[in-house]
Amino acid sequence: MKDVVAQILNLQNRDIALLSVLRKIKAVPADVSAFESEIKKAQAELDGFKSGLSALEASRAEMRAERRAMEAKAEKYSGQLLGMKKREDYDALEAEIAKLRDAAGAIEEKELGILFEIDERRETLSKLETDTEIAIVKLKGDIASAQASLASLDAERVSAEGAFEAARKEVSRPEWVDAYMRLKAAGKPLPLVVRLDKGQCGGCFLKVSADTADRVVSSGEPVFCEHCGKILYIDA
Ligand SMILES: [Zn+2]
Repeated sequence: MKDVVAQILNLQNRDIALLSVLRKIKAVPADVSAFESEIKKAQAELDGFKSGLSALEASRAEMRAERRAMEAKAEKYSGQLLGMKKREDYDALEAEIAKLRDAAGAIEEKELGILFEIDERRETLSKLETDTEIAIVKLKGDIASAQASLASLDAERVSAEGAFEAARKEVSRPEWVDAYMRLKAAGKPLPLVVRLDKGQCGGCFLKVSADTADRVVSSGEPVFCEHCGKILYIDA
């Protein structure tokens, strides 16, 4: 009885080790796609920053064109001033010139503000480009090593499966293996073999009947918890 319990617990430990390898293998694709979406996010952030800067540069170019058109117009009117015969025409044209120059000056001031911001953003962009590049190189490395780990995880799986099979053959009483494999096939979560402690099942933590507890002690057969169906054992 004591031997078979030790053997079945050993089988269960091998099974837990195998499950852990299988979980690691299963996690790889999720890890890879998480890294891939981080790459996309970093790239999108950089692109967003770049298009913000482009928009600013475009609006600066627009302002400059508008200002230059005003300056050219003011220049042209200045050339016409001397040709003005009437005093009021001269004054009106002069006022128009002053208005144009004022407006051009106001635009120039705004342009300077934008230029300052453009300079700042260009500096930020160059840092952001470097940081993004570094981050993406690192993430690509993470993806590569996650994919490379699949090969060694697969070797681990093969060896864990071998260990499980070996442990299965070591169990001296087939009815214990059968009981274990039935619970495993039914998809019951590990552990499948649980300790009965002071009448309480170590799987569901409910109290089992006195009859069940007695059979665990004396029958030598696998005895199941009447609540959760797991195999019970007691410390020898
Ligand atoms: Zn139970």
